[in-house]
Amino acid sequence: MDFCHKRFLVLGLKKTGISVINFLKTLNPIKIYITDKNLKLEIPDTVYIDYEEAFICLDKIDYLIKSPGIPYDIPLLEEARKKNVTIINDIELSYPFIKNDKKIIGVTGSNGKTTTTTLIERLLSEGKIKALSAGNIGKPLLEVVTTKNSEVDVYVLELSSFQLLDLYDFKADINIFLNINLAHLDYHHSFEHYLNAKLNLVKNIDADSIIIYNYDDVSLTERLKGKQGKHFTFSLSNPDATTYINDGKIIFNNEVIMNVSDIKLLGKHNLYNIMPCIIVGKIFNITNETIRKALTSISGLPHRLEYVRTINEISFYNDSKSTNPTSTLNALAAFNKPIILLLGGYDRGQDFVEVIKHPNIKHIIAFGATNERICKETENHNVPYTKCDNLEEAVIVAYQLAKPHDIVLLSPASASWDAFSDYEERGCIYKHLINNLPNITI
Ligand code: ADP
Repeated sequence: MDFCHKRFLVLGLKKTGISVINFLKTLNPIKIYITDKNLKLEIPDTVYIDYEEAFICLDKIDYLIKSPGIPYDIPLLEEARKKNVTIINDIELSYPFIKNDKKIIGVTGSNGKTTTTTLIERLLSEGKIKALSAGNIGKPLLEVVTTKNSEVDVYVLELSSFQLLDLYDFKADINIFLNINLAHLDYHHSFEHYLNAKLNLVKNIDADSIIIYNYDDVSLTERLKGKQGKHFTFSLSNPDATTYINDGKIIFNNEVIMNVSDIKLLGKHNLYNIMPCIIVGKIFNITNETIRKALTSISGLPHRLEYVRTINEISFYNDSKSTNPTSTLNALAAFNKPIILLLGGYDRGQDFVEVIKHPNIKHIIAFGATNERICKETENHNVPYTKCDNLEEAVIVAYQLAKPHDIVLLSPASASWDAFSDYEERGCIYKHLINNLPNITI
């Protein structure tokens, strides 16, 4: 696609939208219209159009560039499609500006994208390869492409299904599929639509493309196994996969790479994140020793089963990134000690029953907007619980209840928007509260 000297409408004016506008300005544009349902901004060299009136400029533009989180089926976009306006996102816009000598690794999946993207970036860097992560990880690709291009050999892109929907020419050299489960159905409406969005990552692959996927994930394996390209797979136990685990060791093509017991990241789910990284390491000819060193030295990412502190032999963990019950179930399964779980937050009607019934739970502390609902369920299932109004109270109650060798875990299975701006703020406040607890049993 050619983006020079064209007319654009930028839909969505937060971080990604702003990076898009700044970039478009460098392309000698004829016109940049901008709009947002909730924000009215004056930006030099652009024309703001009220969201309700943005329909009128559809006849005057070549490209509509949409921020990924905006639903694909809003009336403005439906109308744009009718008028054959090309709708793209920042990833597609960046693509022609990534030089041919750079490699692109695309990482997608329902869970584990940020973890795997971060691990790959660190592994490649440890192997003396100049790698940089971007995309859904919170670093718009455009910002990185414009400022760091000369310093980068490999872009490691975290790609959400929202970003994958609007791709045309984009092609990654290595395409990683971690897993797929029922997520984001509020956005995609059906599993098939969601799966197809993910598979868009490989719509332009050729015989030289590399696909790495989870062999234990039936939906992914079924849809990917017939695709062209070089295939690498990973599995917890299936020896038919390129990488699998046998007798506590991770094997790549019959070669032992590392012991599972050396990995500091907690939980079985993280083995699923480590294995594709090993495959990437081998593809880039990084030595086993460096792969081992890089992947076993990381003990946790912020807000993802992050160890905070131990007081009186009670260990505190922050898993604020857990915004759905599946994530919390992963977190609960990562420990074999009694857990006092801080559960609750923004109410999306999520079903807490499986979480509440988890055998590792000693006590549930229900807080946030879902606290009433959680208390009702815990009562139905005879699980001990305490209702708290907020996180502060929840931390104090947890500390009062905890005995030596217990785990206190914030893994709310809920988004944070009932009381916080995002999961990071919630996690930081939790850590602050924990770090200020007195070092004596209350
Ligand atoms: P994403 O970027 O896809 O949202 P993260 O790496 O931020 O994923 O991890 C978010 C949460 O998802 C983690 O706290 C963990 O509970 C869960 N998770 C991480 N990796 C996996 C995986 N491979 N399979 C299932 N759940 C996972």
